Amino acid sequence: MKMVWQRLGYVGGSFLAMLVMLIMLVSPVRADDSQSQTCQQANVALQVLGSGGPEIDDGRASTAYLLWVGGKAKVMIDMGGGSAWRFEQSGANLADLDAVLFTHFHVDHSADFPVFVKAGFFTERTQNLPIYGPDNQGKGDLLVNSTVFVDRLFDKERGVYPYLSGYFDANRQTPFNYIAHDVPVSGDALYTAKPAPGLDISGIPVNHGFLPAMAWRIDVAGKSVTISGDMNGERQTLERLAKGTDLLVAHAAIHEHTQGAGAFLHMKPTTIGRIAKQANAKKVVLSHFMNRSQNRMEAMTAGIRAHYQGALAFATDLSCWVID
Ligand SMILES: [Zn+2]
Repeated sequence: MKMVWQRLGYVGGSFLAMLVMLIMLVSPVRADDSQSQTCQQANVALQVLGSGGPEIDDGRASTAYLLWVGGKAKVMIDMGGGSAWRFEQSGANLADLDAVLFTHFHVDHSADFPVFVKAGFFTERTQNLPIYGPDNQGKGDLLVNSTVFVDRLFDKERGVYPYLSGYFDANRQTPFNYIAHDVPVSGDALYTAKPAPGLDISGIPVNHGFLPAMAWRIDVAGKSVTISGDMNGERQTLERLAKGTDLLVAHAAIHEHTQGAGAFLHMKPTTIGRIAKQANAKKVVLSHFMNRSQNRMEAMTAGIRAHYQGALAFATDLSCWVID
């Protein structure tokens, strides 16, 4: 009998140890990261959720940003792969968002959208959530626009996830709907919208090769942040959008001597520097790194410094940039 109890005691002990280990492994992530705390305590701040591009060996989530205002995440820009997990780590609440902006519908900017749609069911959200993205202007053979993006994913007949179609149909019983907006990108006109009081968003078409793409600017509480998105600088529109901006996030996907498709799609460091200088941006944060650019930080800096002498920094996932 004694042996049995000893054995049980031993088993109980290892069971307890295993339980403690399990709890440690699966305990929910708290937003106790100092960068997330910084963003939550600022009046206005931008948090980089994903600072990478499409590669899966760059140590970064794909592209996504959160604008924090008064301790709440109010605007999300892009939803690349890994951004849902970074969102959770940031401590943000989907119920707080006033708008989602897409720069374009490449995988590294949009793949986690269905994750957020499903997760919305488990939040307290009851307000509709507008999403904005560039119209495809008849170039839909390579990229879609916002309404086609949601339709092909969530249409109840033909969609990939028909069980979530209610979130896109005002006649169905869901706590809220996503409202997709297609923003024209044929001319160079500024697009403006006010998804919530005091929150001004503006977008402008940019050239991501010949693909429909946009740069976005958000003005709130007297501060502004501008996100270049993926672009090559040929259209010369970002300079206008970013005029006097407090923070310009510039996508740094290539180095100065990149050739071919990369150079057709993205800005070289000297182009980023020229645009930052012309816009008189107060601060530039580089993001959307790829291995070819992040392995050449010194040369990247030199290219930008050929034109721009203001504050310059490099994004990492979850890094918080207070706009003061
Ligand atoms: Zn990209």
